[in-house]
This record gives sequence, structure tokens and C-alpha cells, in this order.
Amino acid sequence: MNVLARIKRFLTYWVIKTTHGMLTCGEADQFMVDYLEYRLDPEVRERFENHLENCICCKGFLAAYRRTIELARACAEPAVPPDGPRMPPALMEAIIAARKGVPPPS
Ligand SMILES: [Zn+2]
Repeated sequence: MNVLARIKRFLTYWVIKTTHGMLTCGEADQFMVDYLEYRLDPEVRERFENHLENCICCKGFLAAYRRTIELARACAEPAVPPDGPRMPPALMEAIIAARKGVPPPS
């Protein structure tokens, strides 16, 4: 997050804490990540959740954001866990034999 984005976020956070109006979609958008990572103050979190209850757009955006994070984490996981199942030795021998042009062991 660049400096201007941080300043904007700080000012929005301050305004939210010192006023009692409903969040705008733009304000709610700035707190999506903090909301998902449980970093919002309780009062801001409550106002954010109130906005979500009344705004289908932000609710959908949050669901998509959450799903994107899940998919990114799934992609970052190794395809074969280091302590997971290994290739059966007989299959490995068959592949090696096939590459050498000899019949696999029976
Ligand atoms: Zn909204």
C-alpha cells in the first residue's frame, strides 16, 4: 500500500470512528482486508458489518475476495505434499524400464 493510500485509509478510519453515518461502499472497500484478517476495531467492524447487511454489492465483493484468497492459498500449496503418498516402486521401475526400451519387471 503506497503512502497516499495509507493516508486515505487512515483518514477514512478516523472519520468512521468519529461519525455515526452509514459507511459508503468506497469506505467499506478500504476495510475488506482488515475485516478478513480481524484487524478492525470493534466499533468499525460493527459498522462494516452493518453496511454488508444492507449492501448486496459489497457483500458479493467480500465473498469473491474471500474466495480469491482461498484459491490463491490452494495454488500456493505443493501439488504433492512432502510427506504424502509416493509413486509405487513397481510403477517407477516400469517407467525406468520403458525409457530404456526393456520390458518392465513382472
Ligand atoms: Zn456497499
